[in-house]
Amino acid sequence: MDQGVKHYCGIFGVYGHADAARLTGLGLNALQHRGEESCGIAVGDGSTIRVHKGMGQVSEVFDRPEIFDRLAGHLAIGHNRYSTTGSDTAANAQPYVAECRGHIAVAHNGNLVNTAALRSEMQEDGAIFQTSSDSEVILHLIAKSRQTSIGDRVMDAISRLKGAYSLVMSTEKHLIAARDPHGFRPLCLGQLGDAWIVASESCALDIISARYIRDIEPGELVVIDQNGLRTYFQDEEAPRRAHCIFEFIYFSRPDSMIFGDNVDKTRRKFGKQLAIEQPADADIVISVPDSSNTAALGYADQSGLRFELGLIRNHYVGRTFITPGQDSRAARVRVKFNPVRGVLKGKRVVIVEDSIVRGTTLRHLARMIREAGARQIHVRVSCPPIVSPCFYGIDFQTEKELIANEKTIEEIREHLGVDSLGYLSLDGMIKCAPNGDNHYCTACFDRQYPIPVEAAMGKLMLENGHHAAV
Ligand code: 5GP
Ligand code: MG
Repeated sequence: MDQGVKHYCGIFGVYGHADAARLTGLGLNALQHRGEESCGIAVGDGSTIRVHKGMGQVSEVFDRPEIFDRLAGHLAIGHNRYSTTGSDTAANAQPYVAECRGHIAVAHNGNLVNTAALRSEMQEDGAIFQTSSDSEVILHLIAKSRQTSIGDRVMDAISRLKGAYSLVMSTEKHLIAARDPHGFRPLCLGQLGDAWIVASESCALDIISARYIRDIEPGELVVIDQNGLRTYFQDEEAPRRAHCIFEFIYFSRPDSMIFGDNVDKTRRKFGKQLAIEQPADADIVISVPDSSNTAALGYADQSGLRFELGLIRNHYVGRTFITPGQDSRAARVRVKFNPVRGVLKGKRVVIVEDSIVRGTTLRHLARMIREAGARQIHVRVSCPPIVSPCFYGIDFQTEKELIANEKTIEEIREHLGVDSLGYLSLDGMIKCAPNGDNHYCTACFDRQYPIPVEAAMGKLMLENGHHAAV
C-alpha cells in the first residue's frame, strides 16, 4: 500500500458529452508529463460510476477501444499520477471511487499538510482507512458532512483541508472542481460546444479543441450538472496567492496557459533574465531537452549566442525521477541523452538547465559533453538554487537530497565538473512571472512556506516513517 503520496499529478474532467471517457483519455494524454506512473478514468452516466485505472501511461492503461466502449456516460474525470520512490501500486491509482449516499469519485493534484491530523480525528470517530492518501481523507470528509446538496457537502469537506489541492470530483450526476485558497496548483475551465471541461493545464483543452474560458479561482468550488454551472467560494478570508513558481520553471508544458499566462512566455523571460544576470563568454547555447528548451531559447535570444541542438533526447525512456535510488537515476540519464558531436566539438558551450535538484543530470551530461569535444562548459540555471523541500506536491522531499542545500555554488560547479555555473536570482525570477511579488510560493528557494512549516513537517515525518516501513 502506498504511503507518503506526493500528488504531483494531472487532472481532467468533462461534463455533458456523449464521449466523455474518450475526451478524458485524450486530455490525460496531453497531461502525461505531469505523471506517468498510473492513470485512470471514472465515468458517470446519471445512475452509476464506472472506473478503469492501472499502472502505466495513458496509452498503456487504455490500450484497447473496448475499454472506452465500456465507459459509457456523459461525465468523466481522469487522473495521471506521478510516482514516489519506493511506493507501489495499482491500489493507489486514481480516481478513487467510494460509496456514500451514491458514488463519489475524486482525483487530486497537490499535497495536503493536515492529512495526518484529520485522519486520526476521524479514526477516533470510527472511520477506517485503506490508504494514507489525501484523497481518501477527502472522501471521508464528504461522507461525514451533514449538508444536503452536493456543493455544500464538498464545501464542508474542503474547508477542513490545509495545503495544496486542485481537485476534480464527480458523482453519478455532477462534475465538481475545486482549488485551494492559495492556488498552489493550476486548474482551468473550458468549453467544447455545450460540454464543460476542467484541466490542470490548457494544453489538455487544446488537444480536444475545447475553448479556454478561465482559471478556476483560488478558493473556488464549481459544481456542474444538468442545471448548468454553479460556483461557490470558501468564506474564510482569502490568504495571499501562492502559485507554485515551479510550474513555470519546469512542470507545465510551454504551450499551456496557467495562472492566467502563457508558460512559454514566462519561461522565455526566465532565460532572458538569466542571460542578463549570468552572461557567458561562449560560442553556442544548448538546452537539456525538453524541459529547458524554452529557457535556452530566451538565453540565446538575449545573449546573441547561437542556439544549437547539442543533445538529443530519447523520448522512449521514462523520466529520470521515476526510478528509485541514485544508481538507476544515473543510468537513466545515460540512456536518455546523446551528444551531437559535430555541434559540440571545439566549442565553448553554454548549457541552460531549468533546475538542479540533486545534480545527477548535469553531472552526467557535463562529462558527456566534454567527451564529445566541447572546449568549455558553462552551466546556466533558469531558477535559483533549490535549498528546501516542497510540502505542497513537488517531489523534493528532504533537504539532504538537494545539492544546493549541502554545497556552495562553487562546490556544485566542482561537483558537476564544469567551467562556470550561474543561477537566476530569486528577484529576477519573480520579476519575470505574471503579477510578480506576493503571488507565488517560492519556498523551495527561500524557505518562506505560505502554510506553516510545522504542520507540513509533521506530515513529512509521518511519510518518511511510512516509507521506512515499506
Ligand atoms: P537533478 O538531475 O539535478 O536531480 O534534477 C534536475 C533535472 O530534473 C532537470 O533536468 C529538471 O528538468 C528535472 N526535474 C526537476 N524537477 C523535477 C521533478 O520534480 N520531476 C522530474 N521527473 N524531473 C525534474
Ligand atoms: Mg530536465
